[in-house]
Amino acid sequence: MKLINENPWQYLSVKLPMLGAFFMLIVLILQWALDYKIIDGDTAAIIASTVIPALTWFGRKIAQPNLHNVNQFVTVTAGHSNVDPGAVNGKFKEAELVTKFRNAVAHYLKEAGIAIKTDGVGSDNQNLNTAIKLIKGSDVAVEFHMNAATNKAAYGIETIALPKDKKLAQDLSKVVAKAFNSKLRGDNGWIDQSQSARGKLGFISNGGLIVELGFISNETELKTFNEKYWLAARDVSDILISYVK
Ligand SMILES: [Zn+2]
Repeated sequence: MKLINENPWQYLSVKLPMLGAFFMLIVLILQWALDYKIIDGDTAAIIASTVIPALTWFGRKIAQPNLHNVNQFVTVTAGHSNVDPGAVNGKFKEAELVTKFRNAVAHYLKEAGIAIKTDGVGSDNQNLNTAIKLIKGSDVAVEFHMNAATNKAAYGIETIALPKDKKLAQDLSKVVAKAFNSKLRGDNGWIDQSQSARGKLGFISNGGLIVELGFISNETELKTFNEKYWLAARDVSDILISYVK
């Protein structure tokens, strides 16, 4: 048996019949304590077999919109924007590469029936403010970037996230590093933003994760990205799908 990680008491279909049963119990205790018959056994049986199931039905029927608006979509965005290319290596611009990656992840999520929000479709890559607005209400929000360093040999994969998302960050980095035959940076692929050289990042402070898909400044890693980004995107989407399910 597998338990669902949620509080059943938030549902009226649980609350109402429980209250009904509790009320009946009080009545039965009272009539025992007072030695006075309020309801007879037949009436109690009728209530138990009709009123209690009816309360369950009503509880299920009454709309609880506050319970249904959460956890309904996954946000995937591309770093930088149409006007900010991010890091550049020759003809390759970070903003364009991560936009392709975003599209690939979005494709696999849609294919799996997951509702998504993105900071644009096709080659469109909206700016950070737009991306941050898409985080609210999402089950999980991920933005893609590529690292760059003056040391051309620097390589590896990392995901910057709040401590609460450490496990997810490590899982995301792991599959990307595997697909790109790269290595994990930071704490097994996780970088706490408090330890990030970039300091506080808006996307992360607002609850998102930033996956650095390797170093654009490293020729091997750039080549691998271009050859295998579909593979990594599929694995990233698999992680996100199992996270939301
Ligand atoms: Zn970037």
